[in-house]
Amino acid sequence: MERKIPIHDHDGYIVPLLWTFAFSHNEYWCPCCGENYPMFHDEEEIEETPILKERREQYRKQTKNYLAAVGMIKGKARKKWGGQMKSFAEYSKSTQRKWKRWIKEWQPGVTL
Ligand SMILES: [Zn+2]
Repeated sequence: MERKIPIHDHDGYIVPLLWTFAFSHNEYWCPCCGENYPMFHDEEEIEETPILKERREQYRKQTKNYLAAVGMIKGKARKKWGGQMKSFAEYSKSTQRKWKRWIKEWQPGVTL
């Protein structure tokens, strides 16, 4: 059975949206331009191809740190560390700086 996936079409360059909880109420995110979409959205969905599946995995790897940092800082997520759930403020300054750097380092418009 064919699987339909949500995408963002950038003038013919198709970007599979990533599923993430980093942004509240917007579970889909375009790793190319940074647009957010709610779970129920009107964006186009197309059949998943091996190329799109690979592209999604590449984007997921590339943006993993950024999404984790956004979730911690903006989404007020908590992460387990040393057996305890901690919020952003409870982490060391160096870890906080690392996450802030990951957010700054992300650039929109990346095509793979
Ligand atoms: Zn986009």
